[in-house]
Amino acid sequence: VTQLLEESVGGALSDAGSHGQPPPPVRVEWVMEEDVPSVTVDERLIRQAFLNLALNAVQAMPQGGTLRVVARKAWVERPGVQVEIIDTGPGIPLELRTRIFEPFFTTKAQGTGLGLAVVKRIVDSHMGAMGLDVPDTGGAVFWIFLPLEPPTL
Ligand code: ADP
Ligand code: MG
Repeated sequence: VTQLLEESVGGALSDAGSHGQPPPPVRVEWVMEEDVPSVTVDERLIRQAFLNLALNAVQAMPQGGTLRVVARKAWVERPGVQVEIIDTGPGIPLELRTRIFEPFFTTKAQGTGLGLAVVKRIVDSHMGAMGLDVPDTGGAVFWIFLPLEPPTL
């Protein structure tokens, strides 16, 4: 999972700088705990899920900021891994916090509104869980829990 995260975050950062503008100054903080177990996943799908979250995080910080990427051992009814993609953008207003997971919901001029809906579908197919925290201190925390051994993918 940590390697898929590195690939996805790298992809999101290079995408941010590939539309004719200079990339925003996004600092990346890696918090990869040492005992992160390996999980059985569909690598292509999980890479896509991480990429979608990382892209949203970078897009939420057009003036730059800090992208914090966390992976840790976790337990949600069974053993697994928790990944967090944390940005220092504006956060998400309370009234939008459930709607953003709906297909085609977007607040972006060029948005498809599919990013989070796809993440949710991928996480569900791995029998995982995902959620959003919006701390008082600002920014947004998207987390994904993936169980170690999902039922057949
Ligand atoms: P899109 O990125 O095409 O708009 P998504 O499904 O990826 O579609 O996201 C839906 C909406 O959720 C975004 O338009 C934005 O309003 C909100 N959103 C998602 N991630 C973040 C974030 N990290 N910070 C602030 N808003 C976010
Ligand atoms: Mg998106």
